[in-house]
Amino acid sequence: MRRPLVAGNWKMNGTREGVVALIEGIKAGLGDTNADVLVCPPAIFIDSVGSLLEGSQVKLGAQNICQEAESGAYTGELSAAMLTEFGCSYAIIGHSERRHVYGEADKLVAERVAAAVSGNVTPIFCIGELLEEREKGTTEQVIAQQLDAVLKLDNGVALLKETVLAYEPVWAIGTGKTASPEQAQAVHAFIRSHLAKQDEALAVGIKIIYGGSVNAANAENLLGMPDIDGGLIGGASLKVNDFLAICKAAG
Ligand code: PEP
Repeated sequence: MRRPLVAGNWKMNGTREGVVALIEGIKAGLGDTNADVLVCPPAIFIDSVGSLLEGSQVKLGAQNICQEAESGAYTGELSAAMLTEFGCSYAIIGHSERRHVYGEADKLVAERVAAAVSGNVTPIFCIGELLEEREKGTTEQVIAQQLDAVLKLDNGVALLKETVLAYEPVWAIGTGKTASPEQAQAVHAFIRSHLAKQDEALAVGIKIIYGGSVNAANAENLLGMPDIDGGLIGGASLKVNDFLAICKAAG
């Protein structure tokens, strides 16, 4: 059984005060859930959010991770060692904003996945097609290429066995335009079939969450699809009641 995961990607949002209100609201309202719940604040808030989360079931993640595991001349980056010291057990990797605004290519993204796993941080490895790729009918090709960047590493299958995948159609992120449950399910099923060519147990066991304008109103239908194991939530993760409703729909 794949346990659902709901991960909040706060992106570059938050203030000292706002972060406290958001975490206190989530902690107070979450109650019993069968889902894992995770928040990924901007790096500057990781320490304070970690303290606020002490003793709670909500987990802490980062929005990226360096491809080098320890320390060194990598201005602006955070290593797995740093993230684990501050209580992060997950890191979002290859988010479309990193790929398309900051030019992170498949190879770098794959190296970041490998560094996360070797540093005991679970990658939330994001993949997804642009609107023009969907319109050209190349969605599956794009997704396969993004997955293959990790699969072709020496220990690619083993790395993915320690990874959560997030399917995020780029045209649905932050646009209010969500994939229909059927569209999302079709891609999730394709991902499993692609992985099954390498390793059947990987295909069945890997958690694949959906991201792209998930909100309180559409979460139940999206997260109810058989191959969708939770959500990566941007905008709605900044609103306590919306985020809690999505967690409820997952768990
Ligand atoms: C995201 O940032 O990964 C995301 C899915 O954003 P939104 O929910 O705002 O579309």
